[in-house]
Order: sequence, then structure tokens, then C-alpha cells
Amino acid sequence: MQDSAPFSPSLALSLGFATLLLITILVKMWLASRQIRHVAQHRPTVPAAFASSITLAAHQKAADYTITKARIGLLELSLGTAVLMGWTLLGGLNLLNQSLLAWLGGGMLQQLAVLVGFVLISGLIDIPLSLYQTFVIEERFGFNKTTLKLWLGDMLKSSLVGAVIGLPIAALILWLMGTAGPRWWLWAWSAWMGINLLLLMVYPTFIAPLFNKFKPLEDESLKARVTALMQRCGFAAKGLFVMDGSKRSAHANAYFTGFGAAKRVVFYDTLLAKLAPAEVDAVLAHELGHFKHKHIIQRIATMFAFSLLGFALLGWLSTQVWFYTGLSVIPNMSGAPNDALALLLFMLVIPVVTFFIAPLSAQVSRKHEFQADAYAVQQTSGQDLSSALLKMYEDNASTLTPDPVFVKFYYSHPPASERLARMAAQGVAA
Ligand SMILES: [Zn+2]
Repeated sequence: MQDSAPFSPSLALSLGFATLLLITILVKMWLASRQIRHVAQHRPTVPAAFASSITLAAHQKAADYTITKARIGLLELSLGTAVLMGWTLLGGLNLLNQSLLAWLGGGMLQQLAVLVGFVLISGLIDIPLSLYQTFVIEERFGFNKTTLKLWLGDMLKSSLVGAVIGLPIAALILWLMGTAGPRWWLWAWSAWMGINLLLLMVYPTFIAPLFNKFKPLEDESLKARVTALMQRCGFAAKGLFVMDGSKRSAHANAYFTGFGAAKRVVFYDTLLAKLAPAEVDAVLAHELGHFKHKHIIQRIATMFAFSLLGFALLGWLSTQVWFYTGLSVIPNMSGAPNDALALLLFMLVIPVVTFFIAPLSAQVSRKHEFQADAYAVQQTSGQDLSSALLKMYEDNASTLTPDPVFVKFYYSHPPASERLARMAAQGVAA
């Protein structure tokens, strides 16, 4: 017996990964239990500031919806952890790879098969929970408008679109990994960014219409209002559309697409049904505020920078044997490429690490929301934006009393209470 084992990077990775995973699970469970407790404690009464605008029934519905979602989140966490362990340390990915290797030999076809096999198996595992969320939870709170037939059609369509777009991209990345030399990751990153920008541009005109109908806005007075608002803010409307969001869900929204000063505006029909014209204006002004403050460009630039970092890291990790063995995958020998394995392992492991920077990105996002609100108050009216937000929070059953720590970690939008308080303060200052 030797009294000191040599340092093994593979074992260090296994242990490090398992420890980090355990820490993230404990933190997530702690956050969810805080949220559940906090919301339950405030369930009996409407907060004083909203006593005149929100009914007790609406307040309690929001509390119940929030608590239910937090509980489902815990179920998702357990399932997700089991699946992640199954793929990595318990040897699932290795098993998939070895079986396909025995069947297809090592080459591009086998690598694509590994990716497709992984996506199919993961997708199948997710189906029961997704069905439960749509047809039990959303149904119970009156949000679900989709039918099983529509749901199946959506799944089929998105799988087809995913295959048509995803397979060539996967093949391109694998090809670059295999042929572009040690700096392949720089090429792969450039290709990936180019494709992302292209998809961003073609999404509204080619992909979104596969799932929803877009009709030009017919309400003349609203059209005049919105056009005037956009002119005032220095934008040109490239088209005003109404989308049949009510086909699937009662949740309401509005968004802009397009690059440069010409914007395509899309309203969910559910939004137009719930808000008065002045409130619609205020919501649009908020969205325009995101453009005025360059939030969209900043978000895209951040994504570019982080994916460059990711690709560089993957470039290095993919050449390290311990990266595979530490996650229970035996790398292919005798020249068969390991690129698909490296891609998948990286995608599986990275969210465990990035979980800890989530509060940072959530904080930036909440700051952006405040800035967009301030812009909307300048361009329209604080009163209209307040009442619109209140209606939207109520319609989405967003709780007015979330746990402050949970908010810090996860909320991309500040709670209604904070947004309304800021607007009120701004109104006083103006
Ligand atoms: Zn916003």
C-alpha cells in the first residue's frame, strides 16, 4: 500500500463537480423555501399600498400561484439533478456514446447521432413535467388556453424547426472542431455569433408565423396613438401587428423586433383586451426605453463576450483527458473524434458554475427595468404605466410580496411594489 496517492485531476473534477452540484441544490432549496414561507406569511392581507387597487381574492390567487410555482421548481430541481447525474457521473453519456460507436463507428455521423440521441432522450424525459405544468398548473389558475392537439402540434413543429436549423449548425461546429486546428474555437465562435444574429433577424418573419398568426393592427385610433408615440421617441413603425397569443395562454405581452430605427411592433391580443389605449402607450414607451438606453445592444454584446469565453474554455477542456474521465466518459481512442462528447459535457456542466453569477445578471436586468420605466414616465404618464403594470402583474398572478432574497437571485423584473414606488417618487420629483 502506498501512503500517498498521486494527484488525479480526473478524481478532483468528479469530486469538485459533485460538491458544487450539492451546493447549488442546497442554495436553490433554501431560496425556494424562503419564497414559499414569505409569500404564505403575507397571504392573509393585501399590502397597505395596494389596498385600494388589488382585491384580496387577486392577492391570494397570486400567492397560491407563486407558491405552486416554487414547489414545481423543487420538483424540477430534483428531476434535473437526477438527469444530470445520470448523464455524467453515473455514465449515461458514456453508454450512449459507446453504443453508437459500436453501431456506427467513429465519424461525423456517429457524432451527430450522439447529439441527436442526447436531445431526444432529454426531451422525452421533460415531457411529463411540461404536460403537468400546462394542463394541471396553468389550467388550475385559469391561464391555459392550449389544447392537447395544439400542444402536440407545437412540439412536432418546434422539433422539426429545431432539426432543420440545429443539425446543420451542429455539423458545422463539429466540422470546425475536427478540421480548423487548435484555434477552432475562435472560428466556431464567429460562426455561432453570425448564425445567432441571422436567426434574430429572420425569427419574426419566418419562424414566429409558424406558431402564431400576425394581423395588422386595425384599431385606427390606437394606430395613430402608437405611431405618434414612436415619432416622439425617434422611432419609425415598420408595421403594427396583433398576435393571437390567446390561442395558448392568457398571459399578456407586447414586444418590438427589428434592427435600427425602424421597429416592428407586436401586441398580444390578450394585452389589447386588458389595457386602455393610454396604458398600451405607456407599456410601449417602456419597451422603447430599453432601446433608448441601448439595453438590447448591451445584452447582445454581453452574450458575445460570454460565449467567446465559453468557446475558449471549451477549446482547452476538450483536449484534456480528465475532462472526460472526471465526468465518467471514456474518450474515444484510435483517432475517433470526441467533439460531440466535449460539447455535451460542457453544456451539462456549465450551468452548475454559472448559477452563481445569476444574481449579477438579474440585478443588471432589474436596473434596466427601472430605467425603461423612468423613460416611459417621461414620454407618457406615470399614472398610466402604474395602472398598466398593476393590471399585468395581477393578470399574471405575480405576487406583490416576494421574498427579498429570492428576488435578488432570480427576478429579472423588480416586484410591482418597487416599480410603483420608484415611479411615484419620480412623479413627485418631476
Ligand atoms: Zn422591460
